[in-house]
Amino acid sequence: MTVPAVGLCETCTWVRVVTNRRGSVFYRCLRADTDPPDPRFVRYPPLPVLQCPGYDRRDPLAEPERDRDEG
Ligand code: SF4
Repeated sequence: MTVPAVGLCETCTWVRVVTNRRGSVFYRCLRADTDPPDPRFVRYPPLPVLQCPGYDRRDPLAEPERDRDEG
């Protein structure tokens, strides 16, 4: 399912869904974790992401990576 408020990150291979202690959900882009950093990507992109040079559609049967909390 695609969440319109999230855009492409919702179905991207490179996203990690992070939930904090208060239950807020954040979409973290793993493409932003390269060394050296790639300036095209930020760790928490403003949503919705409607266009992205790094988008890779995830297998529709696969779940996104999930993390608890980052603060
Ligand atoms: S590569 Fe683009 S679409 Fe994929 S998670 Fe990062 S910002 Fe979102």
